[in-house]
Amino acid sequence: MKYINKKLSIEKIKVEDIAKKFGTPTYCYSYKRLKDNINNFKNNFKSFSPLVCFAIKSNTNVNLIKEIRKLGLGADVVSMGELMMALKAGVNPKKIVFSGVGKTAKEINYAIDKKILLINAESKSEIIEIERIAKNKRKVVDIGIRLNPNTDAKTLKQISTGKKENKFGVDEKIFFELINYTKLSKNIKLKCLSVHIGSQILDHQPYEKMLNVIDKIIKKSNHNFEFIDLGGGMGISYEENTKKLNYKKYNLAINKFLKKHKSKIIFEPGRSIVGDIGSLISQVIYIKQNDKKDFIILDAAMNDLMRPALYGANHKTLPATKHSRLSKKTYEFVGPICESTDKFTTLKKFQKLKEKDLVVMCDTGAYGMSLSSNYNLRPKAAEILIKGTKINVIKKRQKLDQLI
Ligand SMILES: *Cc1c(COP(=O)(O)O)cnc(C)c1O
Repeated sequence: MKYINKKLSIEKIKVEDIAKKFGTPTYCYSYKRLKDNINNFKNNFKSFSPLVCFAIKSNTNVNLIKEIRKLGLGADVVSMGELMMALKAGVNPKKIVFSGVGKTAKEINYAIDKKILLINAESKSEIIEIERIAKNKRKVVDIGIRLNPNTDAKTLKQISTGKKENKFGVDEKIFFELINYTKLSKNIKLKCLSVHIGSQILDHQPYEKMLNVIDKIIKKSNHNFEFIDLGGGMGISYEENTKKLNYKKYNLAINKFLKKHKSKIIFEPGRSIVGDIGSLISQVIYIKQNDKKDFIILDAAMNDLMRPALYGANHKTLPATKHSRLSKKTYEFVGPICESTDKFTTLKKFQKLKEKDLVVMCDTGAYGMSLSSNYNLRPKAAEILIKGTKINVIKKRQKLDQLI
C-alpha cells in the first residue's frame, strides 16, 4: 500500500475508486502481499519443510482460504464451522489440525469422519471423549496433546495462552499421565505434541524457552512423536519502527531441537499470513467538535473491527488522499455504535479532515472481519481481493433484509 500521486493505493488501485465502486466500510486484501507472506514464511523455515496450517480463525473468508490453499498451506481449525469452511475451500483433510479446549462430541464425530490429520486434545476429559467416539466407530484416531509449557510469550495478557494460569493445554504432570493413558488405548494413537503460547509475539526468546521445555519433556517421556506442532503467534509490525520477530533465531532454535528429535514440524500461523494484507476502508460521516479534541465519526465501527475495543489494539490510520494541511486539534476516530469503547485511535497530528473524506485502517487482515458482528444490527462489511488487475468481491456486503 502506498501513495501514488497523493492517492493511497493498494497494488496500484486507488482506495478512492474502491470506495466509489463498492461503498464503505469495506475490507480490501492484497493477493500479492498474501503470496509474499506465504513464500517468506516458508523460506524462513525451508531447511526442515514444515507443514504450515493457516489458522482459519484469523480470517474465515472462503475465497481467501482457497487462495491460501493454492499457495500450499493446510488449515488449523478451532470449531466445526471452521473445519467445514476449510473443507469447502478445498483444503486437504490430511493437512488439517483441530485445536480448541471445548470440542463437543458432534465436532469430534465430524472431525473423525472427515479423516483430518490430527485432533489436538487439550484435556483428559477430551481424550476420553475422543476415545469413546473412536471406539463406537471402530476406528483408530490420530491425536496430539497440547502442552501448556508455562512460558510467558511477552505479549498482551489478553492474547497470551501458554502460561499455567491460562485455560489452554495440560501441564507437564498431566501430559505424562496422558501419554501413559494413550499407550493403553486401542482407539487413539498419540502422534503429536502441540503448543501455542500466544499471539503477536515479537520476541524470539519465548519461543526458545518453549522449545527447551518441549525438549526436556520429550526426553523424559521416552515417547516418539511423529509431529511437533509449534502453533503460531508470530507477530507483525502494526506501527512503524517497532521490533520485528527474528525468524532466523527462531529457525536456528528449531534446527537445534531437530538434531535431537526427528519429528515433522507443524506451524499454525494466522496473523503473520494475513494481518498486513488487509485494510479497512471507511468514510467520515460527521466531524463533531469538542473542546479538547474533534471526534471523527466513521462509518466503520467496533462491530467491523473489534481489536481496539477488545484489547486496546492500535491500527495505523491513513487518509485516502494526502495533502499537507495539518489539523490543529487532536482527532479521536470513533464509530457510530452506542458504546464508549467504540473508538479506534487518537491522533495528534493528522492531516485536516472533512466530512465524507475516506480513511483507511491498516493491517486489518487478521482478526478483523473474522471478529466482526452484527451488534447494533449493523450489516457486515464487504470484502474485496485485489489480484493483479482484477478486483474481486470475495464477500458481498451483508444486506439489511438478511438481518431483519
Ligand atoms: C489463534 C491460534 C493460532 C494462530 O495465532 P496467530 O497469532 O494468528 O498466528 C494458532 N494456533 C492456535 C491453537 C490458536 O488458537
